[in-house]
Amino acid sequence: MQRRPVSYCESCGRPIHGKPFRAEVDGVEMELCLGCYTKMSSSGRAKPLRSQPRTAQSYKPRRRLPGIRGIEALEIVTDYAERIKRAREERGWPLSVLAEKLRISESLLRKIESGKYKPPIELARKMESLLRVKLVVPSEEPEEFEAEPPTDITLGDIVVIRREEE
Ligand SMILES: [Zn+2]
Repeated sequence: MQRRPVSYCESCGRPIHGKPFRAEVDGVEMELCLGCYTKMSSSGRAKPLRSQPRTAQSYKPRRRLPGIRGIEALEIVTDYAERIKRAREERGWPLSVLAEKLRISESLLRKIESGKYKPPIELARKMESLLRVKLVVPSEEPEEFEAEPPTDITLGDIVVIRREEE
């Protein structure tokens, strides 16, 4: 009788008949059955372990999004409400005047000045130039950046990300 150690597919748990397929799945080395190996490698999840050069098609960045790294992440300063209010009052502008200059409603401006509504970058930029205050600063959380894409990415960025995922 031929002795053959039974190995089990590390993905589906079924015993592997014949030669197991070794592959790197999400950066982890795994032994897979033919079914799982075929499925995962066709979806690009599994990379063959044999020293094959990584082609553009089989290599998919999963954990890191290199395209995003270079993009400058911006955020609004935490005391934006105070800064806006102070600068507006220094100019002697009532809420209505600044709201009109910004083309936003007075109630929205009131929310911003009371800290209930953080202005989007574009609006904050407008306020910066009107009030001569600093409101937009580079983001200081590169670590969280990797875990989830920034919420204020532009349409151009989305196109880049999609292209990389293809
Ligand atoms: Zn399997």
